[in-house]
Amino acid sequence: MMKKRVFLTRTLHDFALKELKKRYEIEIHSGKIPIPKSKLRSKIGNIEGLICFPYDKIDRDLIDNAKNLKIISTYSVGFDHIDTKYAKKKKIRVGYTPEVLTDATADLAFSLMLDVLRRVSEGDRIIRNGKWIQIYGAYDYVGTDLQGMTLGIFGLGRIGSALAKRAKSFNMKIIYHNRKPISKNKENSLGVKYVTFLKLIRSSDIISIHVPHTKETNHMFNMKIFKKMKKSGFLINTARGKIVNEKDLIKALNKKIIAGAALDVYESEPISKKHPLTKIQNVVLAPHIGSSTKETRAKMAEITVKNLNLGIEGKSPIYSVGY
Ligand code: NAP
Repeated sequence: MMKKRVFLTRTLHDFALKELKKRYEIEIHSGKIPIPKSKLRSKIGNIEGLICFPYDKIDRDLIDNAKNLKIISTYSVGFDHIDTKYAKKKKIRVGYTPEVLTDATADLAFSLMLDVLRRVSEGDRIIRNGKWIQIYGAYDYVGTDLQGMTLGIFGLGRIGSALAKRAKSFNMKIIYHNRKPISKNKENSLGVKYVTFLKLIRSSDIISIHVPHTKETNHMFNMKIFKKMKKSGFLINTARGKIVNEKDLIKALNKKIIAGAALDVYESEPISKKHPLTKIQNVVLAPHIGSSTKETRAKMAEITVKNLNLGIEGKSPIYSVGY
């Protein structure tokens, strides 16, 4: 029997490729990342399974060309790069990789928070640039304590809850906003309090974003919101870049409307060393590494392959968007 065909927009771990090769005829894009749309369009018509990454935009046009496709298996928890509604309409399943990356991403959000409040990366730059001239005195180079601060979690889902657990052990006060509050039992065990979006913005010393990028959350953090935040407030974003209006953020930081920011995600990635954010000292910049630990990335590969296998068999993936 002819093997089913699977296309990967980028290579994966050896163990995952070995698994795929046992069952399918596979082709892996090498060269420019992300794969040019024209190349993906030329491949997508002949395959039953697609493995893609968060920077591969799978839109209506590509889906219209995907005549034999049964599953799009994305190597990410975010699926804002896929037109999932249209895929469903065309009976193409979409698999994604939540849960396995929750702890790694919460760890990164917490480390960014510590970094920007204690000015670790800034200090690293001072030393590397030969600017550490004398031992600091009482008022020099002071950071901010995390203890006692109010952490506002925007999006208390899997990653937001994992961040709350970490923050609790640092004796932070934790408030959160979702469209719907979580159960009272969960609130009590996490030690969190539900507030309105406005209250979250006004009362938090640090706001950490953990909502998905959707039409509703697009540019939700803009100048209007930064002006409502505390002047001493910090913004952490490990969710998606487009949730924040980056131009407004740059203005807010430069005009000291807020005290600092730590980011793992940007409106357009990668950013270059000429990007205005790189010129601001009270900003920590990470290159989209939320889930990037060797253990987590391997688990994501395992789920990506399992989701793909199920989709090709006509079954629902372990983690499925829609059906
Ligand atoms: P999740 O479990 O689905 O949690 C999302 C939370 O956001 C939910 O509590 C949801 O609650 C809330 N929410 C959704 N839309 C909202 C809105 N319009 N207003 C207020 N709250 C809203 O997702 P997760 O696994 O924690 O992942 C969150 C996001 O992190 C992903 O979508 C992904 O983009 C990003 N991420 C980034 C990295 C990285 O490498 N930096 C790694 C992993 C994940 P309600 O439904 O009640 O509103």
